[in-house]
Amino acid sequence: MISINEAQKIIREQLPDPLVELTALPEALNRILAEEVQAIEPSPRYTNSAMDGYAVKWEDVKQASESQPAELRIVGESQAGVPYSAALRSGEAIRISTGAMLCDGADTITPVEDTEERNGRVRIKTAGKAGQHIRREGEEFLPGVRLLKKGARLAAPELALLASQGIASVPVYRKPGVSIIVTGSELVHYYSTPKPWQIRDSNGLMLTSAVRNSGGEVLLSAHVGDHFDETVQTLRNAVENSRIIIFSGGVSVGPHDLVKKAAQECGFEQLFWQVKQKPGKPLFFARRENCLFFGLPGNPVSAYMCYMYYIDPVLRFLQGGEYRHSQLTGVAGAPLQNSIKRAHMMRVRLEKDSLSTVPTIYSLERQGSHMLTSLTEADGFVVLEPGRGVQTGEPVEVIPFHFGAI
Ligand code: AMP
Ligand code: MG
Repeated sequence: MISINEAQKIIREQLPDPLVELTALPEALNRILAEEVQAIEPSPRYTNSAMDGYAVKWEDVKQASESQPAELRIVGESQAGVPYSAALRSGEAIRISTGAMLCDGADTITPVEDTEERNGRVRIKTAGKAGQHIRREGEEFLPGVRLLKKGARLAAPELALLASQGIASVPVYRKPGVSIIVTGSELVHYYSTPKPWQIRDSNGLMLTSAVRNSGGEVLLSAHVGDHFDETVQTLRNAVENSRIIIFSGGVSVGPHDLVKKAAQECGFEQLFWQVKQKPGKPLFFARRENCLFFGLPGNPVSAYMCYMYYIDPVLRFLQGGEYRHSQLTGVAGAPLQNSIKRAHMMRVRLEKDSLSTVPTIYSLERQGSHMLTSLTEADGFVVLEPGRGVQTGEPVEVIPFHFGAI
C-alpha cells in the first residue's frame, strides 16, 4: 500500500496535456485563456466627449467668467452615433453628448451645467481648463498592447473587453470530459422507491455535481450492477473522448468488486491500488493513453474525499491551472490526533468571529465514511499523517470544500 504523497506523485506524473479550443464569447464565461490577447484597435476608438455639453475652441472661451461669459453661435450637434461632419470655426459651438465624436476644430468641452442656451446661442460662464472633458483616441491603450494574460479567468469584465475589441472567440482550455459510472446491484435511482435491501444512489449525483463544480463536463453518467460483462461494456462506451473516467464502488476486495478487472480488460494499466488513508483506502488509479481512470470506493464520504484530494486538482490542471488544492490556514480549537497507521482526512468545522483573522478548527465528532452528514456539517478537511497530533492553538492547513467556506 502506498502513502498519500506517493499516490499524488504518481497522478502528477500521469497528467496529460491540457487541450485548447476556440470558444465564442458567451460560452467562454469562467473559462481560462490559453493564450494572451492583444488589442486590435485603440481605446477609445475615436476622440469623444466625456460630458453632455458643448464642443468649443479653447481660444474662444478661455476668458469666460460668470460676469463676462463668452457667447458662441450653435452651428450643429454631435450625438452619440450621429457625428457633426464639418469643422468648427472661431465663434462657434456644437452641442455634444457623452460618447459622441469630437468634430475637427473643437478642442475643449464645456459641460452643460456651465452654460446657458438662448436663441441659437450659448453663453459659457466658466472657462474651465484647455482640453477638458475629452477622451482621446488610444488614451487607454493602443493596438498591440497586451490586454489579457494567458491563464486569465474570463469573468464578465474580461468578456466585455474582448467584445469591445470585436474579438468574437478566444482560445480557452477545453473543459475536461468526464464519464461517471456508479456500480452496485443494491443501488436504485434516487427518485425511485428502494426495496428493503436496496439503497438510493447518491454518489452519482454527488460526483456529477462535483465534476461540474471543478469545471469539467460530464459526458456520461451511468449505473451498472455488479456484473462483469455489463461493467466492461459500459466502460467501453465511456472511453471515447473522456479524459477522466470515475467509477464509484466495486474496488474493494470482495468477490463482486469487478472494477479493477474491467479496467484491465479494457486496456487500462494499473498505476496504484490502495492508499494508506482513511477514508478512501481502496482507491484505484489507472491510465490508458490520455484517459485517466479513478476507481473510488463506494462509501459516499470516501468517494468524495478521494474526489476532492486527487481528482479536483487534476481538473484544475487540465484547465490550465496547477495540480494543487485550495488551502487555508486555521488554528486548532481543540487537540487533533491521528492515532491510526494511515493518513486521516479529518473533516473539520471552521469558526471565525469578527475579531479573529484566522478561523478556529474543530474536528467533527462523527467521521464515519458512510455518514454524508460528516461532509454537510464540515467546511473542509485536515490531512493528518499517521501519529500526528496537533495542540490547541497550533496552526493547521485546511482544504476547504468550497470557496467562501469561511
Ligand atoms: P463498495 O465500495 O462497492 O463496496 O461500496 C461500499 C459501500 O458504499 C456500500 O455500503 C455501498 O452500498 C455504498 N455505496 C456504493 N455505491 C453507492 C452509491 N452510488 N451511492 C450511495 N452509496 C453507495
Ligand atoms: Mg459495491
